[in-house]
Amino acid sequence: MPEEKCLYPFKLCQQGTRLHGQVMLADLPDVASVLSSDHGAVTYDLTCDYDDQDIARLRLQVTAELSLLCQRCLQPLIWPVDCVTLLSPVRTDAAEQQLPTAYEPLRVAETGAVRLTDLLVEELWLAIPQLPRHTTACVTQVDAPAVEDPVSAKPSPFAVLRELRCEP
Ligand SMILES: [Zn+2]
Repeated sequence: MPEEKCLYPFKLCQQGTRLHGQVMLADLPDVASVLSSDHGAVTYDLTCDYDDQDIARLRLQVTAELSLLCQRCLQPLIWPVDCVTLLSPVRTDAAEQQLPTAYEPLRVAETGAVRLTDLLVEELWLAIPQLPRHTTACVTQVDAPAVEDPVSAKPSPFAVLRELRCEP
C-alpha cells in the first residue's frame, strides 16, 4: 500500500514528475475518524515542476467523496471533494516568508521528505466543513408549515439552532 509513501518534493520538481494514484480512506485514520463511513478512496494527482521564477511548484489535485454526518438531521451526507492546491516546498522560515502568496508553503524536513498521506490528510481537513449539512432542508420538512403564517412569524426552532451553530 502506498500510504507510507515518502515524497521528495525538490527532487520531484527537478525531475518534472507527475504522480497519480489512490489512497484508501481507511488508511487515513485521522480523517476516517470524522467520517460516517471510511469506504472509498482519495484520488490524487501531483504535478511537480519549477515555475518561471524558478520556484519549486507542486500542483496537487485531490478528489474524493466523503461520507459525513449532517449536523442538522444526523443522517449521512456525501461530500464531494475536488480541490487543487499549489504548494512549494520550503526548508526554512526565511524561505517560507519569501514565497509568493500564490503558494502554500510545504515545510519539508532536512531529509527533504514528506509523507504523501500527510499531504492528503491536510487537503481533506481543509475541504471538510466544520458543520456539514445537507443543502436541502432535511429536517424542516417534518414539521414546518407549508405556507408561512405571518401571525406566528417567529423564527423556527431550527433557524435558532442554525444561528447558534454558526457561532465561531
Ligand atoms: Zn441533513
